[in-house]
Amino acid sequence: MTVSSATIPSATKARILVIGATGFMGQFVTKASLAFGHPTCLLVRPSHTMHSKAALLKSFQDKGATLIHGVINDKDQMERILKDNEIEIVISLVGGGNVLDQITLIDAMKSVKTIKRFLPSEFGHDVDRAEPVEPGLTMYKEKRVVRRMVEESGIPFTNICCNSIASWPYYDNCHPSKLPPPTDQFQIYGDGNIKVSCAAYFVDGNDIGRLTMKAVDDVRTLNKNVHFRPSMNCYSVNELASLWEKKIGRTIPRVTISEDDLLAAAAANLIPESIVASFTHDIFIKGCQVNFSTDGSNDVEIGTLYPDEKFRCLEDCFEDFVPMIRDKILGGPNDELAKTNNKSLLEAVPITAMG
Ligand code: NDP
Repeated sequence: MTVSSATIPSATKARILVIGATGFMGQFVTKASLAFGHPTCLLVRPSHTMHSKAALLKSFQDKGATLIHGVINDKDQMERILKDNEIEIVISLVGGGNVLDQITLIDAMKSVKTIKRFLPSEFGHDVDRAEPVEPGLTMYKEKRVVRRMVEESGIPFTNICCNSIASWPYYDNCHPSKLPPPTDQFQIYGDGNIKVSCAAYFVDGNDIGRLTMKAVDDVRTLNKNVHFRPSMNCYSVNELASLWEKKIGRTIPRVTISEDDLLAAAAANLIPESIVASFTHDIFIKGCQVNFSTDGSNDVEIGTLYPDEKFRCLEDCFEDFVPMIRDKILGGPNDELAKTNNKSLLEAVPITAMG
């Protein structure tokens, strides 16, 4: 069903506090908040003025952001910040290790009583439905604690369940943003083909930021889980591998990683490898992104809310990684495949400037 747009009509844009603007996901949301014209305050941990992230913060300031120094796990300080800056909407993007820091923030928001919407640090799977094995489950349990506290507090909320950031998922135990998809070997999890049960939705970071900002003060997203399920970006692992092969114009060997392999890697309890294995198992073996319907009374699907909004297709997103493998494509001294494929690669791969 198509639903018409219903953003709260207001002469002025809501005042927003972004927590975690220097983080991976926070950068996308901050950019979008500023682009949407919201008065945007960024909570910055004090050490960052001297830090490598100072340039990023300066670029946000140049676009109109106000920097506020503080930490969310200081209740008095947070109350002061929320009041002094007349914050109406709080968007938290603290990382996986700091999820429980939000408990103090919730207390502070409850005390000031003026927060119209809180978006906790979710920005992934629906943590009430997904059930990874340990050690990944611990982070979901913490996110569930935050969900229950927010519900009990009465603070209006929206949980953004944006599924996977557009990249090769969890490759080499690194943050998805740090590495291009594989160039030597693909790991194909389980069968790798069964789209119905083992696929994932891939969403460009800028789309996550933009659509989060559309949802942030929409009455239809009040106290809801907002699911990002762009059907054109739903891929099984084998389809994902083929897409990358097409993009770089070469064939890459595929090895099968069985369910037992993933469970054994999770059980080894090595950090971060075992967390990666538990999430990979949940996505590509158990199908945690696709194995439930979003028809429930607490759920809305972003594509239904904003049918005219376009998602960037995954093929274009993969283009961003091509410059990162330029050496391999051009045939570094140790790249045997590149030596044999050099000519076709040079013809096939468009090199774009680093974004
Ligand atoms: P990052 O670790 O990259 O960034 C975390 C940010 O939070 C940093 O800016 C950090 O500040 C700030 N922060 C942490 N603790 C505090 C605190 N106590 N007070 C104030 N600021 C604090 O996080 P990610 O972007 O990786 O993760 C954000 C959310 O997105 C998480 O919920 C994560 O699970 C999810 N995610 C989802 C992905 C997906 O594919 N869907 C991919 C990656 C993340 P500082 O700069 O000082 O460290």
